[in-house]
This record gives sequence, structure tokens and C-alpha cells, in this order.
Amino acid sequence: MFRRNHIEHEYQEIQRSGQAMLATHTEMPLPDDTAGAPAVPDSSPAPDFLPPDFRAPTRQDCAGFMMRWDQPIVVDGEVRACPECGAYRSWAVFSMRDDTIWLRCTAGHETKEPGLDTAWFNRHSGPIDTFHPTLDEALHHLGL
Ligand SMILES: [Zn+2]
Repeated sequence: MFRRNHIEHEYQEIQRSGQAMLATHTEMPLPDDTAGAPAVPDSSPAPDFLPPDFRAPTRQDCAGFMMRWDQPIVVDGEVRACPECGAYRSWAVFSMRDDTIWLRCTAGHETKEPGLDTAWFNRHSGPIDTFHPTLDEALHHLGL
């Protein structure tokens, strides 16, 4: 009997302190909108956003991405070959901004490849490590 009374007493204490806390909360003053707050919200970018020189170019900043692909490319069970020279390996694969994929053989013939898409390119390409201002520089970088 003593134990039960003790628990009930403890419960009532907790209930009273909870009610006191709620009463305190309603007595808190409402935030004063005019005190210390700027009249117009600050529209400048967050201060922790990188300055433009440190930001990596986005997909919209580049004409496209490219990777070297030395093995034959098989699309729907068929090995892709250059329609002009018949080459079927050592490709430069381009993923363009308009979501098209282009294949370029070592002779410089470029062919649109509708059987591949940006998702395929992204699955097979590594992380972007270098940006080049011209296609020739990019091809040179890839050793093509
Ligand atoms: Zn070719």
C-alpha cells in the first residue's frame, strides 16, 4: 500500500511539474518581429556556398562528356562498327548535353548511337577528372 501511494504521489508530482512547464510556455512572450530582424529577407546566397571559381562545371556548362572505350561496343547483341571505315574498337564515346550518345572511331568518323543513352554512359564512365576547353584537347588527353 505504501509503495502504490508513493508511485501515485510521484506521478502527481510529474503531472504538476508538466503543467507548470506548459503554463510557463504560454506565458513566454511572442517573438517581436521588429526587434533585430531585417525588414527584407536576405536574398544573397548562403555564405558557405563555394565561390564560382571553386565550383565544378555542371552538365549544362559542358557540351558533353567523353570517355575512352577500347573494347568493341555491343548493343542489342550486335557489335557496333564505324559505318565509314569499319573500325569496331578504340572508340571515344560522347554523352552530349542533349542526351545523345555519339561514337568516334580513331579515324575521326562520328556516328550517333541511338541504342545507348546517358544512363548507360553514366554507368560505364568513371568520375569526371578533367575539363577541356576544346574537343582536340580532350581527345589528346584520352590518347586518341
Ligand atoms: Zn571510322
